[in-house]
Amino acid sequence: MSTPETDVHGCASSLVVPVAGPSGSGEARGSREAARRLGLAYLDTGAMYRALAWWCLDQHVDLHDRAAVAGAGERLPLVITTDPTEVHVLVDGADVSEQIRSTGVSEQVSLVATNLAVREQMRRRQRALIAEHPVGTVAEGRDITTVVAPDAAVRVLLTASEQARLERRARELHGSTDDDALAATHDQVVRRDRDDSTVSQFAVAADGVVTIDSSGLGFEQVVDAVLALVEQRTGRRPVVTA
Ligand code: C5P
Repeated sequence: MSTPETDVHGCASSLVVPVAGPSGSGEARGSREAARRLGLAYLDTGAMYRALAWWCLDQHVDLHDRAAVAGAGERLPLVITTDPTEVHVLVDGADVSEQIRSTGVSEQVSLVATNLAVREQMRRRQRALIAEHPVGTVAEGRDITTVVAPDAAVRVLLTASEQARLERRARELHGSTDDDALAATHDQVVRRDRDDSTVSQFAVAADGVVTIDSSGLGFEQVVDAVLALVEQRTGRRPVVTA
């Protein structure tokens, strides 16, 4: 007999857990750690948009030229690793994992992500990457619960109040939540999410998507909340402890 953890042949069935959320909701670190503990692959879809933005800037492609950016998106020589303990992003063989987190890329990535032709390309690549992992994947990103993997058995929207998200990002980027740090973080959280929300819906949960409000939660509590939901919906338990 099959259980939620095995298929009819007794094999572990593929588990895809899409996690969406606005910037600073704990979605990136939380979903990566949940993947590690569940023994699944981890796909950071935001890193893919960042890689294209970085490459366009590097190649002097005008980010406002939609056709040129879409052309770059088709050609993008991208490799993204999916081991949650060590995520690397390579473009044309060069490891750009750090460069894609620069302020310049963070400020401009929405120009790439609101290009609808690029979104189609990225979704194709993301579905192919998810399909490469028969055991399963925790996939994180704005449109992942609604467009990329809308049929998953458990879909999560991590959210938090604007203040909590600003403070979390300011702590990550500047090591402080004083007024200067909050002001410096504002563009990367509030403006970026506003621009991104013109093409993806990630502020409120779509039908069937479960919301976890992380406003008052620390990192471990976010991970525990995701794992508890996965177990409740699929019967799948962590294979690795903290
Ligand atoms: O998650 P992260 O902040 O690294 O995402 C960077 C950017 O990539 C987002 O601001 C958004 O513009 C874009 N993105 C997207 N759809 C996704 C993931 C990220 O549009 N699924």
